[in-house]
Amino acid sequence: MTGPKFCDFEQCREPATHTYVWAWGESGFCCAPHQMMRTQQASQLKRQIQFTALTPGAPERVTFDERVRLHAEAISAREECAEVKGRSAELYSSNQKLAAEVRRQQLVLSQLQSEVADLRAELEQVTREKLEALRQVANLTNEVARAESVLRASGLDSAPFGAG
Ligand SMILES: [Zn+2]
Repeated sequence: MTGPKFCDFEQCREPATHTYVWAWGESGFCCAPHQMMRTQQASQLKRQIQFTALTPGAPERVTFDERVRLHAEAISAREECAEVKGRSAELYSSNQKLAAEVRRQQLVLSQLQSEVADLRAELEQVTREKLEALRQVANLTNEVARAESVLRASGLDSAPFGAG
């Protein structure tokens, strides 16, 4: 930047102390009193304006309005933070509940699985016993048939097998 800059607030033309940039990109120069005016405009419009001091190394003068705005922003940020923390605690606790529920369901599931395994083993055992019983019935049937044929061959088939 070369040469002095002048305030562009209406007909002011005083030497500028700051440059400003609106949130929508419009920029220009302003003197100290008009910096305050633009700050008020910004809060009325509820839009951001950013000032940069033209004198290098000069500390940025924080206006009263800016302090109020920053304070309000800090308060709302703190409120948001508290809200987020509350929500996070809520989520943590519901997550804990869900994890406990999952553990409970897993326990129920493993109990059911072990009961199913027991029942399956029992069914296999019963099936084996049934097959064994059927085999015995078949053996006995064969023996009876053999005995009957022996009796028939010896002419003694009147009693007690094959009677009536
Ligand atoms: Zn001015």
